[in-house]
Amino acid sequence: MKKITLAANWKMYLDESSSIAFIDKLNADKDLFSNKDIILFPSHACIRAVKDRLNVSLSIGMQDCDMYAKGAYTGSTSINSIDIDSCIVGHSERRIVYKESDNVISDKLNTVLSSNANPILCIGETLKEKNKNLAVSTIDKQLSILPKNLKGKQLTIAYEPVWAIGSGDVPSNQYIDEMLSSIKNRLKSLYSDTDLQNIKLFYGGSVDASNVSELLNVELIDGFLIGSASANFEKFKDIVKQLKL
Ligand code: PEP
Repeated sequence: MKKITLAANWKMYLDESSSIAFIDKLNADKDLFSNKDIILFPSHACIRAVKDRLNVSLSIGMQDCDMYAKGAYTGSTSINSIDIDSCIVGHSERRIVYKESDNVISDKLNTVLSSNANPILCIGETLKEKNKNLAVSTIDKQLSILPKNLKGKQLTIAYEPVWAIGSGDVPSNQYIDEMLSSIKNRLKSLYSDTDLQNIKLFYGGSVDASNVSELLNVELIDGFLIGSASANFEKFKDIVKQLKL
């Protein structure tokens, strides 16, 4: 049985004091959270406080980073600004709200690959694309930015249909399986077996305690990227309790 990863994307839901309050509850429940494969993604400004407060050995990541690692880029955050394990790039909120193109996302991905952190690349089709039967071609285009050389890093592809994010509308296991299979085939055409062993596939979009056990039946899923349900300690704990490892 494989160990499932939970990536908790707190987005901009928790300020510093609520992030600390979350960590205090997590520390108090050490037995449940220890030995779980969990990555917390606080807001950039709260990462230091979260790292300092955490008494359980979990990973910490950045929700996004600048495509540049250093220099005159007012208001931006470098991947090297703080020591973290992982960084999300290409989240649909960055693509849609901040109009980030595949070129920008490609630069960010390469910046993360050159840092000490491992990237999580988010991809997924909009409802309009799904309804026009363009889901596979959309994700193929989003995957076309993948570099040939993974520099020995662990890469995660998070398949997050945009229509499932924050909507409560979760795709069927069959739909997720078809999309992840298509992603896997694309990856097989790009990478060696050694590289493939360092690539994980996540599903994201309205994951919560009511649907996670059903989603765990999708064999290709190595982990979940969870938004709103991960920023509420009790809801997150109810998800963690359903992990078998
Ligand atoms: C996300 O934004 O990555 C996400 C999956 O959000 P939610 O779980 O709230 O749908």
